[in-house]
Amino acid sequence: MNYKTLTTLTVLLLSAKIIVAQHAVRYDVSFTNYKHHEAEITINVDELSSGPVLFRMSRSSPGRYATHEFGKNVYNVKAFDQQGKPLDVKRLEGDLYEVPNHKGAIKLSYTLYGVHADGTYADIDPTQAHLNIPASFMWVKGKEKSPVEVKFNIPEGLNWKVASQLDYKPNDVYYAPSLQYFMDSPTELSNHFQRSWQLKNPDGKQQSIKLALHTIATDAEVDNYTEMVKRLVLEQKAVFGELPNYDFGNYTFIQNVNMYVKGDGMEHRNSTMITNQGAFRGNEIDLLSTLSHEFFHQWNVERIRPKTLEPFDFEHANMSNELWFAEGFTNYYGTLLLKRAGFYSFDTYCMMLNSCLNSVLSLPGAKQYSPVTMSNQAVFVDAGVAVDQTNYPNIFVSYYPYGEATALALDLRLRTEFKNLTLDKFMQLVWQKHGKTEIPYTNSDLQKLLGEFTGSKDFADDFFNRYIYNAEKNNYELLLGKAGILLRKTAPEKAWLGDFQPGQSTYRGLKIASATQKGSPLYEAGLDINDIILSVDGQNISDFSAFQRLIAGHNVGDRLTIVYDHRGTNNSTILTLQENPYLTAITYEQAGLDVTAAMKKLREEWLGMKATSVN
Ligand SMILES: [Zn+2]
Repeated sequence: MNYKTLTTLTVLLLSAKIIVAQHAVRYDVSFTNYKHHEAEITINVDELSSGPVLFRMSRSSPGRYATHEFGKNVYNVKAFDQQGKPLDVKRLEGDLYEVPNHKGAIKLSYTLYGVHADGTYADIDPTQAHLNIPASFMWVKGKEKSPVEVKFNIPEGLNWKVASQLDYKPNDVYYAPSLQYFMDSPTELSNHFQRSWQLKNPDGKQQSIKLALHTIATDAEVDNYTEMVKRLVLEQKAVFGELPNYDFGNYTFIQNVNMYVKGDGMEHRNSTMITNQGAFRGNEIDLLSTLSHEFFHQWNVERIRPKTLEPFDFEHANMSNELWFAEGFTNYYGTLLLKRAGFYSFDTYCMMLNSCLNSVLSLPGAKQYSPVTMSNQAVFVDAGVAVDQTNYPNIFVSYYPYGEATALALDLRLRTEFKNLTLDKFMQLVWQKHGKTEIPYTNSDLQKLLGEFTGSKDFADDFFNRYIYNAEKNNYELLLGKAGILLRKTAPEKAWLGDFQPGQSTYRGLKIASATQKGSPLYEAGLDINDIILSVDGQNISDFSAFQRLIAGHNVGDRLTIVYDHRGTNNSTILTLQENPYLTAITYEQAGLDVTAAMKKLREEWLGMKATSVN
């Protein structure tokens, strides 16, 4: 193509762009009844072609994979034309409204109710308007590509500031280039602390990091916490070598720490919405741990994006095959980077591994199902709400610890079976291939890339076939041993009969309130959910702790008579106690074992600080 053709084409394309440029969908938000947790929201939309227009509340929210009934907290839905004349509104479904007739422009208004501050819902209160967008804003079908402008009318005297990844424009307008971006942009209006700092990327571009912290603290305490966040951010940046280029030049941590929120953390493209229930003072490292996980997501899931989540569907659950990587590997780094940044000691880091190792090595779900199958379950378990019982104790293990343990194994295998390879370097490669380019990946893309990275297709195929597509487990005892970490039984030779959730004790006995675990003595003896344990070994059972004490007094292999009520009928059976299957990771030092120079070297390379002042 010669230059002239190119120029002509450019002119044509530019003029085409001018023709198709769309008017923004404009929202106006007021909080006149904020004391009673209501907001008034209006949507102004024009350039509508003739025919019915659909307005809907979402049923899912970015980063949350189950469906939610956001439509239940929306009411007083009314529509008007440009002259303010009422238009008919039909409610087609719980969360779907139709305006059948109009003259090209509609103003639709509604009331939103919200008393649930977390990473998904809305909270409107004199202390804040905490708005996750799918839970708060209706949208117009057919206008998904239009830009969005929002105006917040802050009640007088409240001193609210606005924290959001939406772009701030003149006249107090907050802007999103499309519906996808808008839905991904939680916004908090509150009287919060604000801090910000700049970091330079290798390409010379400055990226700005902002902290919007809504809590009770002194300025000095917030300054101190900000320094901790800065250290962690540098350690995160060191994994990939750079920060992403933020869409509007900045990334915002929105962190809400008080008694009135639900504990949560939700990643977004250029921000995160974190809610920690409790006090700020004295809990800084816990607060940092949520932040660490969410910040890592700006690379892994926001830009290194599973193909199954792209584009995000706001009307259905979003099922993914790759959450073992998107969430699990993020979990691995969330904890690891707190160690590298010096917030965890080596002993603490080992202790932090216990939960993921036990999930993967001891729970029935992980023995049967692969990380991919468990990723699919997110559509039910990720804050999904149901009234009926599930068999999760037997068929589910979370893709968070499953993926985390898989990342741990892969990292240690790369470090010990190859020369100069690490998971950091693999993540950098994934970042270059799929993150910077924003080409969504599949599991087979990752498998292929691991083959290229290691120079061994056999290694990658074997790893994926055994540990990702199937439920085999890496040899954690061997791998951790190379770093001088001992994986051993938590309670060797102590009797165990299986975990279950205890129900309320009744005068008759102890109720089993969850499915019993396949393979456990209770399960094998035929007991299951809703059975009431009446006596064990001739002793009446009154409560859970007495029951636990009784079992602890026995030996592995003991056979006990258990009497239980099953739907009104008394039954008696014999169960055989097993050894407690749970594991604990401790340092060789704690175990009184020798630590070799090779172990020390591996520990330093794996867990030592990577960030330098030039980062
Ligand atoms: Zn996450």
